[in-house]
Amino acid sequence: MRTLALLFMFAAAMGSQVSFAQESQPTPKQPSALAGTDSAEALREHVAVLPAVRAKYWNIDPAVGYGMKDFGNGVYALSDNGWQSAFLVTDAGVIVFDAPASYGKHIPEAVAKVTNEPIKMLVYSHIHKDHIGGSVALKNIPGLQIIALDTVSDFLKEMNDPNRLIPTVTFNSAKTIKFGGKTVELTRHNYHSNEGDLFIYVPEAKFLMAVDSVTSGYVPFQDFDLTTNFHHYLKMFDEILAYKFDNFIGGHLTDTGTRNDVEITKEYTNDVYQTVKRIHNGLNERVFDAEIAKTIGPDNEFLIFKALLDKVTRDSVAELEPRWINRLAGVDVWLPSHVRAALIYVRWDDKE
Ligand SMILES: [Zn+2]
Repeated sequence: MRTLALLFMFAAAMGSQVSFAQESQPTPKQPSALAGTDSAEALREHVAVLPAVRAKYWNIDPAVGYGMKDFGNGVYALSDNGWQSAFLVTDAGVIVFDAPASYGKHIPEAVAKVTNEPIKMLVYSHIHKDHIGGSVALKNIPGLQIIALDTVSDFLKEMNDPNRLIPTVTFNSAKTIKFGGKTVELTRHNYHSNEGDLFIYVPEAKFLMAVDSVTSGYVPFQDFDLTTNFHHYLKMFDEILAYKFDNFIGGHLTDTGTRNDVEITKEYTNDVYQTVKRIHNGLNERVFDAEIAKTIGPDNEFLIFKALLDKVTRDSVAELEPRWINRLAGVDVWLPSHVRAALIYVRWDDKE
């Protein structure tokens, strides 16, 4: 036994030598995601957009202000490489899905490029002004129906924003539009904004639009796309994948998406969530708090608690960044905010 124990000690000593040798290699630099943005030097520590994502930027003439993609069966996608929307051409007129503030004024001319049919309906995905604040450009279309969730309509009536036209047709949970030989299925979801979000589905075109959900090629925007409900956000991926679709619009940036984009963002989101949960739940808070209190005393409880939340965030970012930095663009930009969003859920909503 004694020999075995000695052997063990020897092996442990060798082990520590090996790890010391590894440590004498250039120390890995801190995660780019923790670099900050407050100096030129900090900005340069961030990575460039992944080349595979850069290659998918739409070639948009600045003089035109938007690009268009034909998805077939009457569905056209619009984008200015910042925002995305769509419209559907039917035999009875055109149904527009969202009118972004950035290029909404160009929607009538975009429609006129592919059809002589007039615009008859406008559907709002949710309340946010960046996606529907260009609707004012459709204000003078006679008889235009504006379709939205009742809760979205209530908000817009209260806000009374001249750039966001008030809905004329509302519903609570689901609505199927049969118009000019085409079908549009609208369904309420709760993954993003407080007043509700729509899935917009055109079955004949295998086209699905779920705005502010998945950004193809990129991680989601800050705080998991500003979700007001991370619990529903986690369920959103399977809700999207339950549809049969070939083309997908998430509402932002440089390309439209496919099922694969939804699947990889689901994997990323679950990895962030599970990693944060493991690191947070594995921390001995009593010991950690006592250690911090040695420096600042026990009475500044807000600062002690912030130190704990900061540690979970740093450790989670350091573990997650290498796994994702070469798979999705923007990991170094938004990962800390994703970790924070997951941490709020893990600590206050989730079970152990
Ligand atoms: Zn939004």
